[in-house]
Amino acid sequence: MLKQIQDIFLGGNNQEDAKAPSLDAMLEPMDKHMDNFAEFVPPAPESKPRTPFDSGLSRNEVGLANLSLQQKMKVVPNAVPLFLNMQRGARLYDGKFKATKTHATPEFLDELEQMAKDHGAKDIAYVKVPNNAIFKDKGIPHQYAIVFTVEMDKEPIDTSPSFDSQLEVMKGYKNMAQISMKLANHMRRHGFAAYPGTALGGLTDYPHLAELAGLGAIGYHGLLISPTEGARLRINTIYTNIENLPLADPSENEHLWVRDFCSMCRKCVRKCPVSAIYDEPEPRGDGGMQCIDHDTCRDYFTKNYGCAVCLAVCPFSQVGYDKVQERFKGNPDAPQFQIEPIYLDDIQVIASD
Ligand code: SF4
Ligand code: SF4
Repeated sequence: MLKQIQDIFLGGNNQEDAKAPSLDAMLEPMDKHMDNFAEFVPPAPESKPRTPFDSGLSRNEVGLANLSLQQKMKVVPNAVPLFLNMQRGARLYDGKFKATKTHATPEFLDELEQMAKDHGAKDIAYVKVPNNAIFKDKGIPHQYAIVFTVEMDKEPIDTSPSFDSQLEVMKGYKNMAQISMKLANHMRRHGFAAYPGTALGGLTDYPHLAELAGLGAIGYHGLLISPTEGARLRINTIYTNIENLPLADPSENEHLWVRDFCSMCRKCVRKCPVSAIYDEPEPRGDGGMQCIDHDTCRDYFTKNYGCAVCLAVCPFSQVGYDKVQERFKGNPDAPQFQIEPIYLDDIQVIASD
């Protein structure tokens, strides 16, 4: 793992035509930990594959692989705990944990939420994971999930695309990985199954889950917009066997007006440096919304420190959710997009010999 961090951020093979290090290859062994489960919750036939990170660019073209010494010194304290906690989280998928409880008291959940917030989480909610939110060819150990967000500071994000902005994004990932490990260990100590979703990559579509959990709504840039953080947030999950979580009713999500505003705004569409954001989201075969052309985004994103222009310019990130809502007079002609959750009846059982 440390070798991979070195390759990605600290300059491994510096030959001019060397291929950029592969984040997808690094995530692959973490996904493989699901092979330790004889039973798991499968994706729906409609599920889409996870969007790949790799762009096929050479190392010389990748912003993060060509940092100054000073920049590398700032990256290391974030990248190392991020990847170590991701690896620790993946090890929890060894298939050995035996839960002793399936129902949590309200006091336990209050305590868990407080613990998450004390460690830097902003918002937290619960969802029954629809099978179409599980990526194609993946699976999850349990169908319930805790979904939480961490906020990224406005000042560095406003400089996107820049090293400072990417560093802030990396801090967000690092915080999420640390919080999910702390919560998962706490839940396990109390007898509940808990499996952190990887901060980067993951087995499920996090914005999709966060919207269903009622934390906000997905904007035209494809990112979650929440009342507390606008679009300056990152999302993570913990899959659990707790069956009595206080689930939100997705049909009563009070934030869906955000997309009515988007259809009048489209600032992210205009400001995307490579026009990767669609004028209007396109309904997807898996019941979700396709908002951007990932192939077009990916090269610019990889060359330019993870870009993030779309989330920086979003009025919800700039002036905040409440002010946008206060000024918005409604848009009855806005096209309506609903994310359709699909629940299959069964779990998948891998036959053992
Ligand atoms: S910039 Fe405008 S259109 Fe884009 S997500 Fe934000 S509010 Fe919606
Ligand atoms: S990250 Fe950058 S390139 Fe990608 S969609 Fe957003 S603004 Fe466009």
